[in-house]
Amino acid sequence: MTPPANAARNSNAARDIANVLHPYTDHRAHAVNGPLVIARGEGVRVWDDQGKEYIEAVAGLWCASLGFDSKRLADAAHKQMLKLPFYHAFTAKSHEPLIDLSEMLIERAPCPMSKVFYANSGSEANDTAIKMVWYYNNAIGRPEKKKIISRLKAYHGITIASGSLTGLPANHKMFDLPIAGIIHVSTPHHYHGAKPGESEEDFATRLATELEETILREGPETVAAFFAEPVMGAGGVMLPPATYFEKIQAVLRKYDVLFVADEVICGFGRTGNYWGCQTYDITPDIITCAKALSASFLPISAIIINDKIFQGLADGSATIGTWGHGFTYSGHPVAAAVALETLKIYDELNIVDHVKTAGAHMQKLLRERFEGHPLVGEVRGIGMVAAIELVADKANKKNFEPSAKVGPRLAKAGEAEGVILRGLANDTIAFSPPLIMKTDEIEQMVDRTARALDAVTVQLR
Ligand code: PLP
Repeated sequence: MTPPANAARNSNAARDIANVLHPYTDHRAHAVNGPLVIARGEGVRVWDDQGKEYIEAVAGLWCASLGFDSKRLADAAHKQMLKLPFYHAFTAKSHEPLIDLSEMLIERAPCPMSKVFYANSGSEANDTAIKMVWYYNNAIGRPEKKKIISRLKAYHGITIASGSLTGLPANHKMFDLPIAGIIHVSTPHHYHGAKPGESEEDFATRLATELEETILREGPETVAAFFAEPVMGAGGVMLPPATYFEKIQAVLRKYDVLFVADEVICGFGRTGNYWGCQTYDITPDIITCAKALSASFLPISAIIINDKIFQGLADGSATIGTWGHGFTYSGHPVAAAVALETLKIYDELNIVDHVKTAGAHMQKLLRERFEGHPLVGEVRGIGMVAAIELVADKANKKNFEPSAKVGPRLAKAGEAEGVILRGLANDTIAFSPPLIMKTDEIEQMVDRTARALDAVTVQLR
């Protein structure tokens, strides 16, 4: 493959094109355009291998909550590596970082929870949650209660089961997904989903009715669980309409359907509370979390379960002789030590209060700068997660043709202005910066984005 014009032989770009298969990338386009090679990070900024500086508006992948440097986290990893670099948790083995972290997560859970299980990614956490739900229902004598309800545009990961929960075409097309037994109901996004004049509350009632009809159609005795992100992230940063989760939870309770809250993005302060479940009064049976759990310094995810689920798993394991599930790196000591230190840093920084204040500033600024823009259909968000959605026709909320690649153009223009933006479906641009971002940095991020949007507006004329 010929390297791009600006990629010298043996440059990082040429070697990348020659050897790397990138996640979420058009491989043909990549062979022409090449990579953006990030060389280092500090605070809310990263620098590429040419020395150009960028503000990271999405904290990498919604995850680098403490930004791109922390001596404390590096020291925690180093110390643990010297003391015990690896041990596992199979067959009742344990170690202190695992015990300490689990205790902290149970203490911080949004509702009474019983036990914590670990994996390495959000996808694995959601796969594990599905397996827990199935195992639980087998253990308590309901082997037919196995179907899972998710939502269109949900993002729960990319493994075979979690990718099936995800409700986005790019994650299903050509992968032969979703697998059987996973059902998707409507996206709770008022901007596109509501009928003309329909209030948020009425829209929420309609969605709860749809959920109830779906459960009845499938047979309540066959429906096991409902998975939801409190705020839908990668599908487009969509906030639930008022009263949505209240009405959804009433339906789930009526038919004895478990609630699995995917807190992979929302957990640890993102929405202005420690958990997204607290922002929306959700009482889950299972919580999955990852990303900010370790500030993304190392891969680790957690599945937090209530006592009802634990009792089912415990009975099942006693019958079979084991809970036959676990990853080599479930509760890896170095990742657990880093996560533990991360949670301590959140406490010391009072991260939730910071997000409440800085997030309110970010939301206000985004609305002031973009709501009146002719290309912006909706500005939405809460805490330190937000999005602007670009539209071709503002009055009719009509998106651009995907082939116009307006979102990707804005992301590209952002790079030129020194801000890394993330384009989602429907030309939606996400903001999910490091939680530590300060007011002046938020202002710079918004300024740079506004300049990038001006550049795209000129291109589209
Ligand atoms: N769940 C949510 C809400 C996510 O945003 C993501 C990733 O962005 C995942 C699950 C999957 O996590 P991972 O990429 O670590 O597998």
